[in-house]
Amino acid sequence: MFDIIIVGAGTAGMSAAIYARRSGKSVLMLEKTSYGGQIISTPEVVNYPGIKNISGFDFATGLYEQALALDADLSYTHVIGIQKGCPEDPEGFTVLTSTEELSCRAVILATGAKNRPLGLQGEQDLIGSGISYCATCDGGFYRKKVVAVNGGGNTALEDAMYLSNLCNHVYLIHRRDTFRGEAALSEALAAKENVTFILNSEITALIPTYGSDIPGTNIRRTTLSSIFIRNRVTGEETALNVDGLFIAIGQMPDNTAFSSLVNIDEKGYIIAGENCLTNVPGIFAAGDCRTKEVRQLTTAAADGAVSATAACAYIDRNGR
Ligand code: NAP
Repeated sequence: MFDIIIVGAGTAGMSAAIYARRSGKSVLMLEKTSYGGQIISTPEVVNYPGIKNISGFDFATGLYEQALALDADLSYTHVIGIQKGCPEDPEGFTVLTSTEELSCRAVILATGAKNRPLGLQGEQDLIGSGISYCATCDGGFYRKKVVAVNGGGNTALEDAMYLSNLCNHVYLIHRRDTFRGEAALSEALAAKENVTFILNSEITALIPTYGSDIPGTNIRRTTLSSIFIRNRVTGEETALNVDGLFIAIGQMPDNTAFSSLVNIDEKGYIIAGENCLTNVPGIFAAGDCRTKEVRQLTTAAADGAVSATAACAYIDRNGR
């Protein structure tokens, strides 16, 4: 039986693991894909206090190494639910994964959020063939090509900056005339010759091109060739030829597995305040998965500390 099971090994989850281990609690992190969460695919982090400049990968790997050096356990598995009570303790919890049932005294949900799709026809089929949600992962495939980035937050601005150093041209498409992301970034982009802003605009269609059959199959190669853009002010619709489209329109949480136990708001975020307490004593929520005003690396790390401290106090208070 673990003291604390942490669901998610992103910034919030790994920060929680560090704090809980330093308080002497046994910790198991459960992660569906890879450690690091969203920050691992961010090209450059320049706003984390005390670190002038670091890649998202190096930041995440530093957290990972720090947590494992403190003997936190990490297991790659898909959590499908949580139940109150476990064989060892009726006041504990059973965390259900796709392969096993794990017992613990407290749970920290740090499930983060996943990329929001545009929801356009053909979008899913074109992933990896013109559509990407990660500039650092896939930008290299578009070297000296023409790409578009959709979104107006820090992710879109950072992606556009990263791609402008690789690609011949970058179109930054945003649905409003002002960016949500940092002014310093948008100003730096505006000064780049190979970046064009297309503002007040939304993408209305993805146009594929069909190539030859994949040898040995009857599947035809399909790649993105152009996108349709509608100006929301004039209503004018235009086609834009692009080799790639990087979609950076924010994230959405994925907390349905816990919705029978913890309260979730209409957008899918776990309802918890700055103290990271959910409606269930012993279950805490940390980072982007919970209701909060500011979703930043710093606030995710802070939530890790707050949730772990609260979980340790909960365990100690209940004499377990
Ligand atoms: P975000 O800040 O939520 O921005 C999402 C952007 O996508 C907004 O500009 C939004 O437009 C637009 N959008 C949303 N839905 C759309 C739709 N259906 N169609 C078209 N556009 C749509 O998301 P993010 O940029 O991924 O950033 C998430 C959080 O991480 C933010 O707090 C951000 O500051 C932080 N972040 C930090 C760093 C860093 O610290 N280095 C790096 C990346 C991200 P509107 O503006 O009109 O709503």
